[in-house]
Amino acid sequence: MKCAACGSTALVGGKIVGEDGSVIGFQPGDAPWLKRIFAVGNRGIRAYGCLHCEHLQLSVEFSESDLEQYQQFEGEQPNVLERINSEPGELNG
Ligand SMILES: [Zn+2]
Repeated sequence: MKCAACGSTALVGGKIVGEDGSVIGFQPGDAPWLKRIFAVGNRGIRAYGCLHCEHLQLSVEFSESDLEQYQQFEGEQPNVLERINSEPGELNG
C-alpha cells in the first residue's frame, strides 16, 4: 500500500483506538437498526500512518460475504429499497 497523499510506502499499520481502549469499526449504511444500536457486525478498520507526511489513511476489513453482497452492484451502491426491489420474486410484477 502507498500513501495516498505523498506516494511513500513507509506506512505504519495500526488501529484507531479511543482513550478508553475501544476500537472503532466500520458499519455499512444499510445495516439493520438493531445491529446499528449494538454495533454488531462492525467491520474492522485498519489504519496506516505515513512516516513521511503523517497522512493517516484507513481501510475496511470487508468479509467474503460483504464482497459477494456489494460487488453484485457495479459503481455506486443502490439504497436499501432499490436493493430489495431488485431481488427476484419480491412483490414485483
Ligand atoms: Zn505520505
